[in-house]
Amino acid sequence: MQNLARSSTLPPPPSAPAPFYAPHRKIYPKAARGRFRRIKSALMLGLLALFALLPWLRWDRGAGLPDQAILFDLESQRFYLFALELWPQHIYYLTGAMILAAVGLFLATALAGRVWCGYTCPQTVWTDLYVKVEEWIEGDRGARIRLDNGPRNAGWLAKKAAKHAVWLLIALATGASAILYFVDAPGYAADLLRFQPGPVATGWILFMTACTYAMAGFMREQMCVYVCPWPRIQAALLDEESLTVTYQDWRGDGRAPLRKDQSWTERSAAGLGDCIDCTACVQVCPTGIDIRDGLQMDCISCGLCIDACDDVMARIGRPGGLIRYDTESAQAAKAVARKPEPYRLVRPRTIVYSLVMLVVGGMMALGVLLEPTVDVSVLRDRAPLYVTLSDGAVQNSYTVKISNMTRAPQDYRLTVAGPKGAAVAVAGGAALLNAEPDTVQTHRVHVRAPAGAAAAGSTPLTLTLTRLSDGAVHQAETVFLAP
Ligand code: SF4
Ligand code: SF4
Repeated sequence: MQNLARSSTLPPPPSAPAPFYAPHRKIYPKAARGRFRRIKSALMLGLLALFALLPWLRWDRGAGLPDQAILFDLESQRFYLFALELWPQHIYYLTGAMILAAVGLFLATALAGRVWCGYTCPQTVWTDLYVKVEEWIEGDRGARIRLDNGPRNAGWLAKKAAKHAVWLLIALATGASAILYFVDAPGYAADLLRFQPGPVATGWILFMTACTYAMAGFMREQMCVYVCPWPRIQAALLDEESLTVTYQDWRGDGRAPLRKDQSWTERSAAGLGDCIDCTACVQVCPTGIDIRDGLQMDCISCGLCIDACDDVMARIGRPGGLIRYDTESAQAAKAVARKPEPYRLVRPRTIVYSLVMLVVGGMMALGVLLEPTVDVSVLRDRAPLYVTLSDGAVQNSYTVKISNMTRAPQDYRLTVAGPKGAAVAVAGGAALLNAEPDTVQTHRVHVRAPAGAAAAGSTPLTLTLTRLSDGAVHQAETVFLAP
């Protein structure tokens, strides 16, 4: 594995003790042009559009139910994802989704390094957008450096004010869009237009606005390098067959500026390679590193240095690909003029990750298909533990909660199995329990065992609910206590 240490941008003098925090150096990424920039821009626009438009997508679930395709309804404790309706007891789907996301990230990293970070991570997408705004208002890298180092005059103030105003507007739109995933989007948008956003939602919108503004406007690459744990984990997920952005040192070194009076044959004879040390690859890098120093923890595999270098190579008449996505094993082969093995998609670790995703995804799909539409929980009264009635019978009381996850009211017959002769008596009537559609219905239930029927202490008790509409049976276990 190549050097994964963070490249030091401001090395201390040799005698000075190493600083605890690296001094922050503002990065002015130059605009890159090329195929990876185009892919990044297309993904940025697509993902931003998806984020903004998804809450507006409708999904008919029938009368009385929200028609928002994706809705995290915290108030009624329901998550709606198209045809899927998740109750709090479905928390394991969330666990499954997180496992799928994590293993998917492992797989992507094993195949192509930090492509998630470079192309689709929200931090990258929003930072890209903010940098575009910066370029649009303040100009490209050189103009921005000159502006920051120049006089603080009216022009400077106007540009800075315009940039921060647009940044804040984007941050505010991001916060407002994020809230729409938790409320009815059209209704809440109307509230927003009437300037009645509500105190809780206002708090969240302001929080999201502040996070977006700070993380995309100011923290940028520091989030990827210092805050996100992923760079530390990725080293363990890469192998010599993973694609990473690499500088082909066997072809590029020794580096020296191009001289007009020197032909490429003379340059080669002088021990010089294709790298003309123009630093174009460093100038476009959003994390400010020099990929020619080897693979580094800060590299987010965005490919912009590839675009920059390919552009330089085209202009000096050399083949592209001096910086490219490549594997460590191919690099090692090329360094000794050996033909590299073709890229291997199927490897032990990619097979394992794919299998884990298949198993977890399959279990989640099965869970959705076989999901019961009723859930019962039973809580036994603790005070008193039991009551001895005048005829010597012993009575225990329970709270039964029925989650009716269907769209129709349901009736259930309740029977018990435990102490001999035990019978159920629902408060106020026969052992028939009802549950309104899409609700959690609570019932008080008494179970009586005739005198002498229940053993002293605890006896297992099974409550069986039989749905009258289709005969579906659901059971819950508890205990019956007797003196
Ligand atoms: S852009 Fe290419 S030629 Fe220029 S410094 Fe980087 S690697 Fe060398
Ligand atoms: S070194 Fe290249 S691929 Fe890595 S972050 Fe910088 S520009 Fe992107």
